[in-house]
Amino acid sequence: MTLEQQDKQYVLQTYTRDYTNFVKGVGATLYDENAKDYIDFAAGIAVNSVGHGNEKLVAAICEQARNIIHISNLQVIEPQAKLAQKIVELSGYDMGVFFANSGAEANEGAIKIARKYGENTFDKKRYKVITLEHSFHGRTITTVKATGQASFHVPHFSPYPEGFSYEKTIADVYGAIDDETVAVMIELVQGEGGVQPFEKEEVQALAKHLKEKNILLIVDEVQTGVYRTGEFLASNLYEIEPDIITLAKGLGGGVPIGAVMTKHKTTLSAGEHGSTFGGNYLSTAAGMAVLEILQPLYESGELGEILIYFTQKLQDIATRYTQFFEKEVGLGLMRGLRAKTAEIQVSIIKNSMKEGLVVLKAGRNTIRFLPSLTISKNEIDEGFKRFENALRSL
Ligand SMILES: *Cc1c(COP(=O)(O)O)cnc(C)c1O
Repeated sequence: MTLEQQDKQYVLQTYTRDYTNFVKGVGATLYDENAKDYIDFAAGIAVNSVGHGNEKLVAAICEQARNIIHISNLQVIEPQAKLAQKIVELSGYDMGVFFANSGAEANEGAIKIARKYGENTFDKKRYKVITLEHSFHGRTITTVKATGQASFHVPHFSPYPEGFSYEKTIADVYGAIDDETVAVMIELVQGEGGVQPFEKEEVQALAKHLKEKNILLIVDEVQTGVYRTGEFLASNLYEIEPDIITLAKGLGGGVPIGAVMTKHKTTLSAGEHGSTFGGNYLSTAAGMAVLEILQPLYESGELGEILIYFTQKLQDIATRYTQFFEKEVGLGLMRGLRAKTAEIQVSIIKNSMKEGLVVLKAGRNTIRFLPSLTISKNEIDEGFKRFENALRSL
């Protein structure tokens, strides 16, 4: 039986899969079973923030695994407390952190905090959360309902929880707020929705308006967080102070972890939220190692330099291949090229794979680039060379 046959027979077929069998990764380079190399501009959808086989991360995981991998959250967990402090300090916000295992779970926590706050704060309980079209907040029944894309609200899984509505633009949010609205949840750069950033001024104005109304601003930084946009949080880049921020993808460097952080530190009481695995020794030790790798990269200016280098290469391609692309979009190392049609988008992604380059699909016909934050200039050069080959063979 081939690997493909095995997968098709035994794994539930919920993904449209590529069957390249990667067996090793070094930095931003992946190797398949035939030792063919691929430049990785996807980083497992913004997860491998410090690249593949990062020695510091691997050493931290191995050392932690040898000591303790897991005990329950009924005991204090030293690396969990350390990672919480580190995240809060790097964010610059006066917040507390709850650890989960994924982005969707972090968003579930955010929604629970918002609903409890809605009960505590207002005479008549508020529970409604407004989100935006083209957003993506997860795949649980609640977070899929929070996702502002009708294609995700398939009737098979109904009934969905109540209390979610969607607006087209940030400007539309103001008029949608009613006396049951407790929170507005947004991404600052819509990732799955097409690597679409919002204007800083309009986000700042929304944040100010919500603060005046005691309505919570939840920023879903599952994809934008952990230096992806060039700052520790996109919220830092936008110079706003959200009530609740969620993190996940890049935080563990590939080890599953999610986090919800909030300035409403006492809203949830003991017993009201929890997780078996969330914040365990292994994932939080990995998270700590990731931040200890990325913080110096940021502070030395190296991250900023790589970001500019990558962006210039991408913009160059966008201007030289206007027959395929509408425009270049994104922020930091979260970038995209808007293809003119879905057919062009799909063919380019397929061709790239043949040329030895992994890139991602996103909404609005976008080809998405989410390289590891430790990618080298050589890997960037090589990746774009292969990308151009893919374009030429179109
Ligand atoms: C990926 C993503 C999620 C969901 O994260 P999972 O770990 O897959 O549950 C939620 N929000 C945003 C913005 C994401 O990019």
